[in-house]
Amino acid sequence: MGMAEKLRVKPGRKISLSDHDTDTTPGYKKKPGDDGDLDKSTSKLADLQYRLYAENKRALLIVLQAMDTGGKDGTIRHVMSGLNPAGCRVKSFKVPTEEELDHDYLWRIHNAVPPRGEFGIFNRSHYEDVIVVRVHQLVPPGVWEKRYDEINAFEKHLVENDVTILKFFLHISKAEQKKRIQARIEDPEKCWKLTESDFKERRHWDDYQRAYEDAISRCSTKWAPWYIIPADKKWFRNLAVSRIMGETLEAMKLKFPKPTLDISKLKLR
Ligand code: AMP
Ligand code: MG
Repeated sequence: MGMAEKLRVKPGRKISLSDHDTDTTPGYKKKPGDDGDLDKSTSKLADLQYRLYAENKRALLIVLQAMDTGGKDGTIRHVMSGLNPAGCRVKSFKVPTEEELDHDYLWRIHNAVPPRGEFGIFNRSHYEDVIVVRVHQLVPPGVWEKRYDEINAFEKHLVENDVTILKFFLHISKAEQKKRIQARIEDPEKCWKLTESDFKERRHWDDYQRAYEDAISRCSTKWAPWYIIPADKKWFRNLAVSRIMGETLEAMKLKFPKPTLDISKLKLR
């Protein structure tokens, strides 16, 4: 069984995050050595990216969501490490600007979807509009309630227009978050990362978990599945994400285009 199949959330299933272990490492007893699967999975990605770029017909969109300190930045660094930056863009979604708020919530998202031939990684996404927005009641329930169906329809539209979508929830435990915040407090090279919100949002842990459970349950679809990645162990999180990306790209059977020139008749003078 591939990694994707192990961690994919079956469409229509109501999940509970507490049933999903945060520090398990399915398929691995321990961290693979330096020349092991971890490196292989990123070099394979580089080859697949080259094919995606050459074919120039389809795009791959990665959506990353997590609790604070869940490892979105670290995952992006790992996944990108072997890739050609020319064919890969990362987009981080922050608190919407005034201009963004004057549009519907999917406007800024649609605008950032990768073009054919490219990888795109979303650091946060339209899911914030059913997560932070719901936890802090930034719009009335009647408004965010309708968004699950809207998001499913939007993602279906993208998929039908040649965008493959992978959605990863990096799942850490509350205890692991505490450890990571503590480590940031103590590390002079990491404490710049701490914000007021890391402390404030932690108090809403349970509300966030509920909001994620609903978003993942209602929006893991056949066309754009959610994956719950056990993320307490950083090496496993990185390995799982790059493996699922690799498996997905392989299943796309990317093909090099036929040369436009008749190679047999070429003569270089
Ligand atoms: P960071 O990713 O740490 O730079 O923080 C970005 C902040 O933007 C987080 O606190 C998010 O909750 C917030 N954010 C992202 N999207 C939205 C949104 N649609 N509505 C409100 N806040 C958002
Ligand atoms: Mg932050």
